[in-house]
Amino acid sequence: MKKTFKAIVSLLLVLTLVFCCSSAAFATDDGCDCGKTPVVFVNGIGGTIFSVDENGDEYPIFPIESDVMVKEILTFIPAAFITGIFGGWDYFAQSLDTMLCKLFAGMDCDNEGNSVLPAHADECDAVTVEEHMYDNEFDFLYDWRLDPYESAAQLDAYIDEIIEVTGHDKVIINAFSEGGEIALAYFDEYGSDKVEMYISQCSAFQGLTLIGMLFTNQCRVDADQLYNFLMTMLPVSNVDQGVLDLLTVLRYTGIYNILTALVNKILDECFDTIYSGFATDVFACMPGVFNFVPAEYYDDAVKMVFGDKPQYAKLVEKLDKYHLAQVNAEKILKEAQANGMAVAFVSHYGVAPMPLVGDKCYQTDGLIDSANTSGGATFAPMDKPFDKNYKQKVDDGHGHVSPDGAVDASTCMFPESTWFVSGFSHWNVSENLIEWLEGCDGQPTINDNPEFPQFLVGDSAENTVKPW
Ligand SMILES: [Zn+2]
Ligand SMILES: [Zn+2]
Repeated sequence: MKKTFKAIVSLLLVLTLVFCCSSAAFATDDGCDCGKTPVVFVNGIGGTIFSVDENGDEYPIFPIESDVMVKEILTFIPAAFITGIFGGWDYFAQSLDTMLCKLFAGMDCDNEGNSVLPAHADECDAVTVEEHMYDNEFDFLYDWRLDPYESAAQLDAYIDEIIEVTGHDKVIINAFSEGGEIALAYFDEYGSDKVEMYISQCSAFQGLTLIGMLFTNQCRVDADQLYNFLMTMLPVSNVDQGVLDLLTVLRYTGIYNILTALVNKILDECFDTIYSGFATDVFACMPGVFNFVPAEYYDDAVKMVFGDKPQYAKLVEKLDKYHLAQVNAEKILKEAQANGMAVAFVSHYGVAPMPLVGDKCYQTDGLIDSANTSGGATFAPMDKPFDKNYKQKVDDGHGHVSPDGAVDASTCMFPESTWFVSGFSHWNVSENLIEWLEGCDGQPTINDNPEFPQFLVGDSAENTVKPW
């Protein structure tokens, strides 16, 4: 009896071992069973861009090196003085334009939207099993000036590499700011077969009113908006109360009116020169930047900046392609969701727009319109919440109006999977929310976790969020 028992136990042990070995073999040959889907973090605008000098040495063309900046600004100051004395605005505008062009010369793109100098972005994170096991987030960096479809092709290759090295068959795309533009171009071009979840953080996929106004010559400064911007932006940037008090006191000295009058005078006097020079040559020829123009400004902006000039035809063709994706974003993303990809949007609000959009007073994260980062939520103006009788625009059977009466999420592309953080700027991160989203199986919703309902308050010192 004992012998039989031993034999059975031995047999079971052997079988268990065989089973374990074969499942271990399965894990290394065909996949990773760690349970953590690799995350690709698609960065926003502003990453370092390098060129190579005649000796083959790398040097940054962005950010602009401080000695170059000091030199150009110092040569510009005499022109500013002469203008101050003699009122020669033409001379001032010309000098300003020359300075800006020189400052950004290394970043020039040609009439087809390609870098003039040979250039490349900083290296993406090396794809290794160690990185996957360690923090599991792979930073994707790209030349943010260029066509989003060009960056999307690089992203696709990077995703393939991650899939190959980690043994997972899908990734999570976590896109921030301009990263949302790249991600949308990616879904448009490559679909969603390799993506388990898409997290959109303050993403610029629907553009910025600020850039739309810039390229249609509507940027103007308003004194009240300058004050509103400072007073809503600085607290979420953790600036001391003393500074805020000082700025409030300064309001009564009329300093904001003087400052804005000066800036508007410069804009009025110099716009045409800067526009046809620096703004068109340098910025408009960067497809990654021009594609920030929201759909409602797009036709006017293209007409105004590129007109019928045939030398820009190829560039406009590139721009049109993303513009079409921007218009069809909802369809592209919903097709991806129907294909099994989970979608989560995070939108920050509660900061007045940059004081370049005249007296407009809409909700932003300090840079991008919150209506755009949320995929179409309806927002009350900054200074005036919905009144008590407000009825949400789409009645889908649940409440989607925020406790502070600022947001109606019922008009979003994904009302059940869009989270709003009050009092967070563009650059704050909802670390606890993102971590929870990345760990979710399937489509996360605003009803899944009492810690993360639709409407949240941000703690900008800790970069965490909590319910209202
Ligand atoms: Zn794994
Ligand atoms: Zn709903």
